[in-house]
Amino acid sequence: MSLQLQIKPKPHKLLDKKKAMFDLIIIGGGPAGLTAALYASRARLNVLLIEKMILGGMASTTFQIENYPGFPDGISGMELSNLLQDQVRRLGLEIVWGNVTVLTHDPSLYQVTVDGKLLNSKAVILATGTTAAKLNVPGEDELRGKGVSYCATCDGPFYKDKNIIVVGGGNAAIEEALFLTRYAKKISLVHRRDELRADKILAEKAKADPKIYFFWHSVVEKISGEHKVEEVILRDLRNNNSLRVAVDGLFIYIGTKPNSELVKGLIKTDKFGYIKTAENMATNLPGLFAAGDVRLKGLRQIITAAADGAIAAEAARTYIETNHN
Ligand code: NAP
Repeated sequence: MSLQLQIKPKPHKLLDKKKAMFDLIIIGGGPAGLTAALYASRARLNVLLIEKMILGGMASTTFQIENYPGFPDGISGMELSNLLQDQVRRLGLEIVWGNVTVLTHDPSLYQVTVDGKLLNSKAVILATGTTAAKLNVPGEDELRGKGVSYCATCDGPFYKDKNIIVVGGGNAAIEEALFLTRYAKKISLVHRRDELRADKILAEKAKADPKIYFFWHSVVEKISGEHKVEEVILRDLRNNNSLRVAVDGLFIYIGTKPNSELVKGLIKTDKFGYIKTAENMATNLPGLFAAGDVRLKGLRQIITAAADGAIAAEAARTYIETNHN
């Protein structure tokens, strides 16, 4: 049901080479990875960026970004990531589309396996971001793409004049609920507490919107429907009462989990898998850096991802010059 946001180019010819060698490989093409690529390219490193899905990452699926400095009227996520891509492509950045399955290292080099091909690099920046967390309730997997969605920008247009539920109380849930008001007839926001985690300015907007209703202290217990979502069972946490709500769709925004499987057991993370880094984005493995949402940090925003990318690229440059010349 999701709209195709960007055509995926064919795998790059570089992957046909037996043993390609780079100064720096950046894994992930969101704001952190693209900014790292920008700085690394300007430093004239031989850099390769590998992306498996969409350049721009999660940010590119955000309808309107209102807190990125320099855009007083806001800018769409797609437009911002297109501008950033333009900026790095002009510097001649090599980009390949593929899935990195293995990352290993010997004392002096990193080996990156992408779609079965081995690439070598002196340093690596992981900018793999996060993935939407799941509710893990009955019906969620079965009805995914049939009314269960994690992307309002992709699927919102399918819900013109429909009744939908948005689950979550953070920035993502509120921003996307506000976006969905342009299509849906009614949006029920289901949140497990009676206070939103989202920024106050967003919370105020949502509470003032006549299309948005709130189910406080409530969680989703079950999603059901024959061929598509028809009904959601909510549970009120104060009295354990269940409530059946007829809906056409459900958008889930209950936080994210880090895409750090690739380095599981290789470097230090917290218990959720967020990568621990020093101030210069270095992990505990020399030459391996992490940037953006995948890293353990206080504020996950496009601007902090971009800042991480710049810092990581500069630290990687210093590392390469010190250890490989
Ligand atoms: P988030 O800030 O972690 O919020 C997750 C929300 O989901 C919270 O309200 C949480 O409830 C709720 N939740 C978590 N697990 C749940 C469960 N199992 N069942 C029901 N509800 C559950 O996540 P996010 O909104 O996806 O944002 C992720 C990061 O990106 C954040 O750092 C956010 O600030 C950032 N972001 C920023 C912007 C922006 O600035 N414009 C936009 C989008 C995202 P509790 O509140 O009770 O914990």
